[in-house]
Amino acid sequence: MTSAVITADGLRKSYGRHDAVRGIDLEVRAGEIFAFLGPNGAGKTTTVEILEGYRDPTAGKVEVLGADPARADREWRSRIGVMLQSWQVEPALTVRESLEQFAGYYPRPLPVEEVVQLVGLEEQGRTRAGRLSGGQQRRLDLGIALIGDPELLFLDEPTTGFDPAARRGAWQIIASLREAGKTVLLTTHYLDEAQALADRVAILVDGRIRTEGPPDSLVAGHATRITFTLPHGVELPALPEPAEVSAGRVELRSDEPVPLVHALTAWAVQNELDLTDFEVRRPSLEDVYLELTTGAAQP
Ligand code: ATP
Repeated sequence: MTSAVITADGLRKSYGRHDAVRGIDLEVRAGEIFAFLGPNGAGKTTTVEILEGYRDPTAGKVEVLGADPARADREWRSRIGVMLQSWQVEPALTVRESLEQFAGYYPRPLPVEEVVQLVGLEEQGRTRAGRLSGGQQRRLDLGIALIGDPELLFLDEPTTGFDPAARRGAWQIIASLREAGKTVLLTTHYLDEAQALADRVAILVDGRIRTEGPPDSLVAGHATRITFTLPHGVELPALPEPAEVSAGRVELRSDEPVPLVHALTAWAVQNELDLTDFEVRRPSLEDVYLELTTGAAQP
């Protein structure tokens, strides 16, 4: 049994009369990537900042790396790396200077040059942080979280503002952290990011965890969708299987898509119909997420 790095028991946080976190139980194990998903204002950052020791809970018990984050010491802090949502660097310092400054807080930091390369800021090494583009600033923030070579990383929306190539680069970095045995708690609004990276996800809605588990297990039980445009001159009842029309396209759903695909394609060949935009789509984490958070997606 792998040991828990983070546990939360009945965690609550109220801001005045507003209950932002309403009883969260959580366990993140050593070496896993755990992702918090949820709409704006669901309580993700509040929870993460309590786990980082930056906010006090209103109620409940929290333990991170064997200590209460609210009372943790410098040694504890040197074992974690944090990427906050908001800007945390002196704008007048260059990229290298910023990383050097943060490296000084850790007993065994990575070489600054290695981190500059890792986050793809080689060309901006001498640029003042205040002059970086939004995405470059976020890369520097990621570098700051990595510089201490910590065993636990909190990454709050780590790839927001990244261009597509930089996002893929960041995914590689985060996946390599797991290979190095680190534990990562991240929040993200990108469901493909969670699906690609996370061993387990928790979907937060209104300060509560609505569902939790490995992305594939959350998706299991949701039907595969088959869609195509109804060929000219064909009526819906003529199809070999019951179907409905959604957004101008025929849609069929099934837990066992293979026989359905077989029936449809055989029917199309027999009737010499060209289903040019025929598509089979596995359910995704996004379908599950939308269903839980808006009720808009299909079961
Ligand atoms: P996002 O996806 O937008 O980052 P989130 O899930 O991280 O959202 P939180 O930032 O944790 O959400 O906010 C949860 C709720 O608590 C929101 O309603 C927010 O307005 C409120 N809140 C957060 N910080 C404070 C604060 N310092 N004072 C008062 N209310 C706050």
